Amino acid sequence: MGAGAEVYIGLGSNLADPRRQVLRGIKQLAGLKGYTPLASSSLYQTAPVGKTDQPAFINAVASGRYSAGPRELLAGLQEIEKLAGRVRLQKWGPRTLDLDILVFGDLVLEEAGLSLPHPHMWQRAFVLIPLAEVAPGLVIPRWDMTAAQLLQRMEPDMLAKQKVVKV
Ligand code: ATP
Ligand code: CA
Ligand code: CA
Repeated sequence: MGAGAEVYIGLGSNLADPRRQVLRGIKQLAGLKGYTPLASSSLYQTAPVGKTDQPAFINAVASGRYSAGPRELLAGLQEIEKLAGRVRLQKWGPRTLDLDILVFGDLVLEEAGLSLPHPHMWQRAFVLIPLAEVAPGLVIPRWDMTAAQLLQRMEPDMLAKQKVVKV
């Protein structure tokens, strides 16, 4: 095991060849200074939730070890989003590439511009399903549950609404 925290990154895209965007995002993540890639999940296709009148998403989760702090990692992720040509037009609207820090070691924090673990992940099948694939044994801080346990705890109709399919 190398130095640094074990980190889990959620990737998503629903514009400009989403599959290519996510694969390229995973590659660029591996090139971030201080980041050593460990694993990445399959790609999953996901019907949009919330704002439903937009193209389907491709989602994945990547894991690695990261030697600097969470703010540095967030800045690195935002650089990668910028390289993909991401512009923020509307909240939860279509995007070329979105990279979220899901888990950063055992950190639990709630700061302006940075919440860890990612505050919405517990109700997102498109995050929990790929996370369960790469890290079945990971106990996620804040909830102290694995991704599979969080999925089991999700309301059945909430889960049924989210169509997540491995592609
Ligand atoms: P959501 O956060 O619900 O997934 P989003 O990813 O579409 O929505 P963005 O516009 O990409 O939202 O990000 C909004 C802000 O969220 C970012 O500027 C960042 O500062 C903040 N943020 C807070 N916690 C995190 C985190 N764990 N990972 C990434 N960004 C975070
Ligand atoms: Ca997001
Ligand atoms: Ca984001």
